[in-house]
Amino acid sequence: MTAKREPTFRESVDLMFNRAVALMELPPGLEEKIRVCNATYTVRFGVRLRGQIHTFTGYRSVHSEHMEPVKGGIRYAMGVNQDEVEALAALMTYKCALVEAPFGGSKGGLRLDPREWEEHELEMITRRFAYELIKRDLIHPAQNVPAPDMGTGEREMAWIADQYKRMATTDINYRACVTGKPIHGGGIQGRTEATGRGVQYALREFFRHPEDVAAAGMSGKLDGKRVVVQGLGNVGYHAAKFLSEEDGCKVTAIIERDGALIDESGLDVEAVRNWIARHGGVDGYPDGKYIADGTKALENECEILIPAAMEGVINLENAARIKAPLIIEAANGPVTAGADDILRQKGTVIIPDMYANAGGVTVSYFEWVKNLSHIRFGRIGRRQEEARHQLIIDELERLDAHLGDNWQMSPHFKQQYLRGAGELELVRSGLDDTMRSAYQSMREVWHNRQDVTDLRTAAYLVSIAKVAASYRAMGL
Ligand code: GLU
Repeated sequence: MTAKREPTFRESVDLMFNRAVALMELPPGLEEKIRVCNATYTVRFGVRLRGQIHTFTGYRSVHSEHMEPVKGGIRYAMGVNQDEVEALAALMTYKCALVEAPFGGSKGGLRLDPREWEEHELEMITRRFAYELIKRDLIHPAQNVPAPDMGTGEREMAWIADQYKRMATTDINYRACVTGKPIHGGGIQGRTEATGRGVQYALREFFRHPEDVAAAGMSGKLDGKRVVVQGLGNVGYHAAKFLSEEDGCKVTAIIERDGALIDESGLDVEAVRNWIARHGGVDGYPDGKYIADGTKALENECEILIPAAMEGVINLENAARIKAPLIIEAANGPVTAGADDILRQKGTVIIPDMYANAGGVTVSYFEWVKNLSHIRFGRIGRRQEEARHQLIIDELERLDAHLGDNWQMSPHFKQQYLRGAGELELVRSGLDDTMRSAYQSMREVWHNRQDVTDLRTAAYLVSIAKVAASYRAMGL
């Protein structure tokens, strides 16, 4: 028997899309219109570095323009290729629709290893790539708004914003051309932590529904659950940190490029992150057991597996050996379509990428709105809110004096109640609300339709219906 071929990333996304769309009744042609990627631009450009010209290949793919601007990150990695960028752009379309961020889907990538270049070299390369995209309106506040992804962060976004400003000198909204910028360069509080924070909020919402927890063969709360995380980059680090510090989870394995650390009593996420920053990997970390073949730890016993590194890591080869009853896809596409079939049959519950990691683009949406409105959230109303709270406190204190020992305010109540919400609190509140509502829209389909047995199909159904409704509203 010949081994089953693993589809490419884009084929994998299409297979999952097809499985969902078969359960819908879309008008002929519309299904195809939604599935296909509208356009992919490939650019090759040279930059003079270290005494010679180096040629780089970059992409910006636009999957769906049913809403504009289109939105999606730019990644820097050696594995970047057209198939990957198109798969990721499609996922952005569905992700934005699911969490009601009013954008179409896009994605970009540059084939390079950021660790091979000095900061000033990366700046030259980034500015040149941005120049190529800006002059074709593939970076533009009204048309196409990138953000960080693998290998990029707020530093690269600041360079892109500045490059756009130099080329569009009279555009008052220039800051809205990219999100994920540093706070002093037009960014928003809480964007860096947003994707990891979203993973935490998603899990909290999942554990609010005992029926769903039971579907994964578990019971109880998040507290005390064992977590295995792959990738301690921006997303994995924040998710693991918040879950262990705020929800009582135990991080029993951390998988990185050079191997994995295992400690059944729970690893200190902050300490591991600092170790990686100083030593470039997890090897040598004094607490916990180190194994060189890190991906083996994906198969460890745990309650929650968080692949937060890259696509395709749970595939036909290892899917049958995955023991976690619950997988939350913090990365994009970590489970291939073939692995998804195997896991579904085993009864594993998968919280799908297009929902699980949507915290990033949700807070990007808030940042974009902040940039267009030219004012920080909370700036106008905060003191007014505090003044109204003060009125209640004064009244309670009057009662307090009157009733004496019979009645007292709880300690800290006054202090907590008096504080009006700042930008960070508002961003977290908006993100929490988004993650709760989107989960509820998926679970409704999951539980109410006999023909839907998993959250991924439910997520596709919800988001495709929204994209289809936009197209229909345009008369298509
Ligand atoms: N790159 C992130 C993602 O895959 C963020 C995209 C954005 O904020 O536009 O969702």
